Amino acid sequence: MQVRRTSPSTRFALCALLALPLQSACVQLGGERGESPWVDFKPLVAMEEGPRYHTLEGYDPIWKERVQEGIEASRAYWGSYGPTHVWILGREDGERVSEEDQGAFLEEYCACRTATVERTIEECRPYARERFLDVMERGDAEAYLSYVRETDPPMAELVFINVHNWYFERDPVPDPVLRGIHEYTHVFQSAFPVTPTWMMEGGAVFAEAWLPWRSGRRGIEEVMGYSMEAAQEVLRKGRSIDEMEEIETAPQRIARYHRELAYDAGAWAVAFMIHESETQRVSSLRDEFYPSVRDLGWETALAEYTRRESKQEFYADFAEFMSSPRDEQLALLTRLKD
Ligand SMILES: [Zn+2]
Repeated sequence: MQVRRTSPSTRFALCALLALPLQSACVQLGGERGESPWVDFKPLVAMEEGPRYHTLEGYDPIWKERVQEGIEASRAYWGSYGPTHVWILGREDGERVSEEDQGAFLEEYCACRTATVERTIEECRPYARERFLDVMERGDAEAYLSYVRETDPPMAELVFINVHNWYFERDPVPDPVLRGIHEYTHVFQSAFPVTPTWMMEGGAVFAEAWLPWRSGRRGIEEVMGYSMEAAQEVLRKGRSIDEMEEIETAPQRIARYHRELAYDAGAWAVAFMIHESETQRVSSLRDEFYPSVRDLGWETALAEYTRRESKQEFYADFAEFMSSPRDEQLALLTRLKD
């Protein structure tokens, strides 16, 4: 797991980096460690227009197609929010990317990014080079949502770099498709007031399991089973998801378990939330829970949605569920409805 700080300070990101066999995680944020970047968060807005896709010339179009497939499947389920720009670039082994194509990508990004702010394209260029092209040249793979608050209106940037590194023929659903599902789920979540880290990452991982299962592309028990195994390892160490409400301000002794608590245990906490709701429908998370966060804030919304007195009661019941036998845990998934 890595926690990284990048400039400018007006940007932070929710992101997932995949490392076998499960995802590792990173968070990019502005400001000093320990400061909440959520203080003046302005949600994204509903809009019919879909994301705008931007790709580096020469990167095999198959990668954009796969990412787009995931994003569009996710958008069809969660709804359309934005403004959202998707930036896709990469360099496969042995390929050379011309200076001209690199320059064109930077121009396109910086023109988009500086259109409604005072920063100039010249100021943007070195930052964009470091953030996109240097990562690509190193061969690192990244996927994340970056919430840009300095533009008017705020916008979502979904960034996918070298996603071909995550492609394995044996996967029933190509990983770049899953990255698209995951990151666009964060776009949906960002259209509502702040929710805890475990719910954001857990919800995105749950969507990676739920949407392909729903369309018959792969089973849900195996992938959620992996998350359960990973979660159990840190729960055994006495950690719990209530310590993972805000990764940006979590102490290092908790932040080191970002992946297991937010992504793995979080995915199960979201499944458990839905299971404890009145209808047990996943769509009620979208249609009832998230809208209620606007009026109630996430803590009261969570308690009401799961029919508990408080979030503490939810946490206690979830902890009990996580200590129940494995077959009972997996059986919960079979009771969830669309
Ligand atoms: Zn994520």
